[in-house]
Amino acid sequence: MSGKEFFQDRYRQLGWELYEVKLRQAIRINNTCVRGKNIFLRLKSIGLQLQKIPFLQAGYWVLDSPVSVGATAEYLLGLYSIQEAAAQIPVSLFSQLRGKKVLDCAAAPGGKTVQLADAMENTGGVVALDVDKKRLTALTNHLERCRITNTVAYVLDARQAPSLAVEFDRVLLDAPCSGNFAADCEWFGNRTLRDIERNATLQKELLTKASQCLSSQGELVYSTCSLEPEENELNMDWAINNLDLKLQEIDCYGQKGLTKVFGKKLDSSLSRCRRIWPNETQGFFVAKLTRSKGHES
Ligand code: SAM
Repeated sequence: MSGKEFFQDRYRQLGWELYEVKLRQAIRINNTCVRGKNIFLRLKSIGLQLQKIPFLQAGYWVLDSPVSVGATAEYLLGLYSIQEAAAQIPVSLFSQLRGKKVLDCAAAPGGKTVQLADAMENTGGVVALDVDKKRLTALTNHLERCRITNTVAYVLDARQAPSLAVEFDRVLLDAPCSGNFAADCEWFGNRTLRDIERNATLQKELLTKASQCLSSQGELVYSTCSLEPEENELNMDWAINNLDLKLQEIDCYGQKGLTKVFGKKLDSSLSRCRRIWPNETQGFFVAKLTRSKGHES
């Protein structure tokens, strides 16, 4: 089962009408690198026109730029990262990050790893894992460019993460997923329901192992750039029923998570997740989980 009509019909059943979306380019200021410099004056002087993204702390739409935003001296100095607007949301959901032990389970190419380290002001420590060695090289280049000093990167399947024998205060699982059509014009032709089910299975395995690495007072953020409920609400419903986890309230851009999917009623706490249908941003799904016991909702 695949094709545009198939997915269009699914989205309609979930209460959303498929339409053409126009993504906007976004950057995120790396405050740790900027320190004291008037970044906005500097970027304006090279002709970069920016507009604050209302739902992000350090995110800006690029309105105009005389050169590619990846080719400026300011980019090479790590003063900003090119990071899609919705992709900036998952890291922003963690409470206090300074000085914490953080696990980034599926980290490459590293946009969120750099965001984590920036929010931590290079304190504490980040362990960044990915199975793909080539993608991890892109990550280490990012770390170097942004002068990140609190992060180590390993080629490791995150399903092996418990073998690190570390209890992490914060765990980010920005899971490998089926993606969505907004950033890939071939998406409808390339994806089938089977791919989605296969990804959902891998995500459950990753969730299981990621949760085993979480300290008793820890926070786990789960995110995907998939619009498919099997990879999102249905996985979260499974997680709260099968792992020692519960969903926390979050306050961010997006619509409440679905509590009914294709006729199946889910736990009411699923409304605590956020579903970001593509518009100016990518499609995204985010959720914040803590241990069932030991954390107040
Ligand atoms: N968090 C990244 C960022 O912000 O740049 C994007 C991550 S991307 C959505 C998913 C990543 O998961 C890919 O780099 C892929 O290689 C990695 N991956 C797939 N299976 C994995 C596994 N079993 N363990 C760790 N990483 C895995």
